[in-house]
Amino acid sequence: MSEHCIFCDILNKKAPADIVYEDDLVIVFKDIRPQAPVHLLVVPHKHIRSINELADEDRNLVAHMIFVGKEQARQNNINKSGYNLLFNVESGGGQVIFHLHLHLIGGYVR
Ligand code: AMP
Ligand code: ZN
Repeated sequence: MSEHCIFCDILNKKAPADIVYEDDLVIVFKDIRPQAPVHLLVVPHKHIRSINELADEDRNLVAHMIFVGKEQARQNNINKSGYNLLFNVESGGGQVIFHLHLHLIGGYVR
């Protein structure tokens, strides 16, 4: 990887983050600028630039990311109230960190 990546630094424990879950495939940490009471990022260990760069072999990884998001929603008690699972894709889609990540956003009082 040629460009510096802050999420790879977090994965390698070279940059700080509020990590709430980690397994062989993904890490989950709190978004540094939360948009809602619960705002977590599900980040694969594998450095993939965006959804556009997914390969066939990544199907199970992406499914796992969604299942981890679902479980984190339950653990944060926002599964019943509801939440967003969101991928921003490239600059026009609002992506600013070019290491694939799934936003889990919820906990608004409505
Ligand atoms: P995106 O716009 O989809 O690329 O989202 C990137 C997200 O990463 C934003 O919501 C940022 O607030 C968040 N972010 C950036 N740097 C960090 C960091 N060091 N630790 C935690 N979250 C971060
Ligand atoms: Zn990376």
